[in-house]
Amino acid sequence: AIFEYAPAPESRDVVEVKGSYGLFIDGEFADGGGTPFKTVNPATEEVLAEVATATADDVDRAVRAARKAFDGWSALPGAERAKYLFRIARIIQERARELAVLESLDNGKPIRESRDVDVPLVAAHFFYYAGWADKLAYAGFGSKALGVAGQVIPWNFPLLMLAWKIAPALACGNTVVLKPAETTPLTALLFADICRQAELPSGVVNIVTGAGETGAAVVSHPDVAKVAFTGSTEVGRSIARAVAGTGKKLTLELGGKAANIVFDDAAIDQAVEGIVNGIFFNQGHVCCAGSRLLVQESIQDELLDSLKRRLGTLRLGDPLDKNTDIGAINSAEQLAKIRSLSEIGESEGAERWSPACELPERGFWFPPTVFTGVAQSHTIARDEIFGPVLSVLTFRTPAEAVEKANNTPYGLSAGIWTEKGSRILWMADRLRAGVVWANTFNKFDPASPFGGYKESGYGREGGLHGLEAYLDV
Ligand code: NAD
Repeated sequence: AIFEYAPAPESRDVVEVKGSYGLFIDGEFADGGGTPFKTVNPATEEVLAEVATATADDVDRAVRAARKAFDGWSALPGAERAKYLFRIARIIQERARELAVLESLDNGKPIRESRDVDVPLVAAHFFYYAGWADKLAYAGFGSKALGVAGQVIPWNFPLLMLAWKIAPALACGNTVVLKPAETTPLTALLFADICRQAELPSGVVNIVTGAGETGAAVVSHPDVAKVAFTGSTEVGRSIARAVAGTGKKLTLELGGKAANIVFDDAAIDQAVEGIVNGIFFNQGHVCCAGSRLLVQESIQDELLDSLKRRLGTLRLGDPLDKNTDIGAINSAEQLAKIRSLSEIGESEGAERWSPACELPERGFWFPPTVFTGVAQSHTIARDEIFGPVLSVLTFRTPAEAVEKANNTPYGLSAGIWTEKGSRILWMADRLRAGVVWANTFNKFDPASPFGGYKESGYGREGGLHGLEAYLDV
């Protein structure tokens, strides 16, 4: 197994997706004024459900509900807010199977990942920030919440990104209007149901579904005091422009092109697992994916041989099968983007390799792919592919590794593989990346802040630093 996981419960058939879903405003599910859209299962192309589109008027209703709820919610003692957050965390644990199956159906990710990584981390974030709600004064902050937080999230970790946004916002006394991505709206609506079950006061959490226009309406609403966005650098730029000059607070978590750097003294088997986890976890739909492998020249052949052997053992297919390692690509659009960048990789002269692997006929699929002979000038060394595609480059010295790793407009994460502690510290000091992992990759903990340098965005989510985004000091 690539990822650690607990003994498997039977995962199929525990979720019944109903025909249509509404918005969640002021504690009630409601119709939207726009034309409903369909969300499909990317592994089969079957329509899962029809989902309401929130118009600017619907967003206005949601923001007003949140604004109305803010006075009561922010005035509650932190210990009272904590009780709701603890309750939400416990219900997430109780309904974990339902959440995991729905996430895999709507997103295409392997059930083993949604069950053992996404959902447990979602609960962990609510537990963690519940713990802060009554300790904000100790953290050195005043306890002044900002107001209504407008939050827009992507499709790669629908529930986890929701948790990163909603848990700290509520702990600090803010209320929320959140817009999930249009290809993965369902678990956010299931979360709305969990808020009801937890008897969270009406209006504290509101969910508005729809495409980019709905997101833009949230961002530009005058009563939204704080905007938190996770998504592409391109949309992040347009949001920064929309917010400029309004006095709203803004945090942006954007794209990445992380280097996973392997030195000749690294434990090769461990590094191979880390490389596989780094780029093939969640089909490479990961902002901090280790999409550039920088390998020290002297061990290139040995490392690539091991990596290819390991890739030959990965199982691609039905996301609901608990033995699946690689699930479906989230949408036809994303698949087209991955294909096109891979073709550019070949046409620019890199060598393409994939293990023998049969792709299902229906659905959106792309095999694990490795490009060798990649130069820094190649498009696949520069652009974020956001798919299961690894670009391999080489280096000779630590200084050259740092220079190549930093040669990107992004700066979200990096990985270092070496037995030398002093080298880890030397490298970490010089890598322009918000997160640096050593001898591991894609490790997350709610207590650890996450966020980027340069065009990967600004602000931090998680940990103590994650509170700053939701409080006035
Ligand atoms: P995207 O930017 O296309 O969409 C993200 C969200 O923004 C969606 O909900 C979308 O509907 C909404 N949106 C689109 N246009 C908008 C507008 N003009 N105003 C307001 N909202 C708008 O990104 P995506 O394709 O969903 O996600 C992939 C990207 O997200 C990748 O670049 C990835 O690196 C990034 N990402 C970053 C992090 C991080 O923490 N840094 C985490 C996950 C994903």
